[in-house]
Amino acid sequence: MKIAILSRNKNLYSTRRLVEAAESRDHAVQVIDVLRCYMNITSLRPTIHYRGEVLDGFDAVIPRIGASITFYGTAVLRQFEMMNVFPLNESVAVTRSRDKLRSAQLLARRGIGMPVTGFAHNPDDIQDLLKEAGGAPVVIKLLEGTQGIGVVLAETNKAAESVIQAFMGLKANIMVQEFIKEAGGADIRCFVVGDKVVAAMKRQGPEGEFRSNLHRGGAASLVKLTPGERSTAVRAAKIMGLGVCGVDLLRSNHGPVVMEVNSSPGLEGIETASGKDVAGIIMQHLEKRVAEVAHRQSRSRTRGKG
Ligand code: ADP
Repeated sequence: MKIAILSRNKNLYSTRRLVEAAESRDHAVQVIDVLRCYMNITSLRPTIHYRGEVLDGFDAVIPRIGASITFYGTAVLRQFEMMNVFPLNESVAVTRSRDKLRSAQLLARRGIGMPVTGFAHNPDDIQDLLKEAGGAPVVIKLLEGTQGIGVVLAETNKAAESVIQAFMGLKANIMVQEFIKEAGGADIRCFVVGDKVVAAMKRQGPEGEFRSNLHRGGAASLVKLTPGERSTAVRAAKIMGLGVCGVDLLRSNHGPVVMEVNSSPGLEGIETASGKDVAGIIMQHLEKRVAEVAHRQSRSRTRGKG
């Protein structure tokens, strides 16, 4: 196969590992910086140009699109899709997963466990919003935050009110969420490929920190999932329409609750913690999916023509 990896930096661990996995399986692979692509979207034959060349002949595309370039990154991915290149994750699913409110609404509608969550922009009754989330302690989040920045634990209603007022002053969208104390500052990253969790790790925040993000000093270790956690992660991935993703869970008193579904999950933490060749597993999945689609297309082309 000829595979495009949409990534801004070919030296990133995840990108390097995917290149290695592709090459070791005799695929041709090119890392493409989406921000340098330009496209002809008007012609009958959609094209993508990159460094003065027309990108052509790709069988599959692996999007590794950072949150800050979602808009243009998904536009380039969509252009690949229009050229009939198979995407590891579809552009609509990537866009969907980047919108925390939309993701939560979709998951909740399908009965996926989540912390009790209120969304707001400029609430006219903060007390009522807090009551909806079960009252203090609550976690207040900026919708646009990543890597744990903009995630605050308010232990009292008074503190929660001040934080909400401060965020309101920034004219930001916020989320007020039940605090899952029993998670003990840990979360579980389930790495889903196709319809399986292929690796999992527990991330534990440092002493006194409720956020487990590795960027905030958290440590990763191997974890054994319960069947309920596995099925929750797989169902969440399916609802979001993502072939490959990281599903973050908290262990709550009322079972696993989903925090987030990440469409470009990093490979370094999970491969180190699990000791598994996750890049190789992704590549195997991609080969299988591309073959399935090619088979379906060849059948529909010959149908009725014999
Ligand atoms: P980000 O997307 O910025 O990483 P998250 O919503 O994942 O933000 O929150 C960061 C971390 O804070 C989570 O990984 C988790 O450890 C902790 N956390 C977030 N929300 C809650 C909650 N409602 N209850 C308990 N811990 C939480």
